[in-house]
Amino acid sequence: MDYVEHVIDLVGNTPLVKLNALTAHIAKDADGNAPTVLAKVEYFNPGGSVKDRIAVRMIEAAEESGELKPGGTIVEPTSGNTGVGLAMVAQRKGYRCVFVCPDKVSEDKRNVLKAYGAEVVVCPTAVPPDHPDSYYCVSDRLVTEIDGAWKPNQYANQANPRSHYETTGPELWQQTDGKITHFVAGVGTGGTISGTGKYLKEVSDGAVRVVGADPEGSVYSGGTGRPYLVEGVGEDFWPETYDRNIADEIIAISDSHSFTTTRELAEQEGLLVGGSCGMAVAAAIRLAERLADEGRSDAVIVVLLPDGGRGYLTKVFNDSWMASYGFLPPGSTDATVGDVL
Ligand code: PMP
Repeated sequence: MDYVEHVIDLVGNTPLVKLNALTAHIAKDADGNAPTVLAKVEYFNPGGSVKDRIAVRMIEAAEESGELKPGGTIVEPTSGNTGVGLAMVAQRKGYRCVFVCPDKVSEDKRNVLKAYGAEVVVCPTAVPPDHPDSYYCVSDRLVTEIDGAWKPNQYANQANPRSHYETTGPELWQQTDGKITHFVAGVGTGGTISGTGKYLKEVSDGAVRVVGADPEGSVYSGGTGRPYLVEGVGEDFWPETYDRNIADEIIAISDSHSFTTTRELAEQEGLLVGGSCGMAVAAAIRLAERLADEGRSDAVIVVLLPDGGRGYLTKVFNDSWMASYGFLPPGSTDATVGDVL
């Protein structure tokens, strides 16, 4: 019989899918070759995102260090992918999960966390971060009030980048038979790019180039944290999980470009993925175009796609929402701003 003991045993070992339609325009050399762009599709993880990887390792590391004891409670301010990963692993290992999120987070997202058995504490969005009811303060207070509570803190926890150093990096080296020349990833906590990039640089003696993709306005591409709409990437501060020595280059991508590329991935490549995936692919394509111009048709670019698109159906995949921000070409929809969900 062929089965796994538990669904968390399926975390990692995600496939690489070649991008064809979105790269068809890239200039070919005299032999008809152009840089190869491969997508590492992380929605194949059982919780649906790359964050399953860090959830497994952060919990294991806390068990080893004694910070998380049997019957303990995991408290984290999260509403998204990290919460799903943590809740899934916690359920398997018998921990309680309490997630704190601002009230702007949709009911659907909260219900996903509850479905996995987590408790969700909702805090008002319209208060400053140092207000006692802010979701930062509430999560800190819960950690001190709940007996046996542990806060993973994905923005500072070194098990986050380490999980990518130990899993994502080696997988890419093996899957490409050591032929990977460039790695492209969006930067949020920086765990993915720092851990994966460090491994790939070490194993290739520095040959693999690491390229970050960042929303225009975020600190990683020289901004101040100006608001952008793509979710899960970009920051207004420098997290401890981001290693500044890894990325060779950061490419900034506009919201508009990120979201139109996200739609193209669904329409032309059969990949229904989140907005940060479109952003990373837009950066990978820009890189591939440049490498083609430089005569590097042998380049093998891997771009990591963090999650699936189902969580964004009312945003990037909704014409009214897209039109309300001017992200759809005029005449491509009959939606009006009043239709926005
Ligand atoms: N995309 C999405 C949808 C995410 O949730 C995250 C994590 N915040 C990222 C990209 C960026 O990954 P990392 O935190 O490893 O930089």
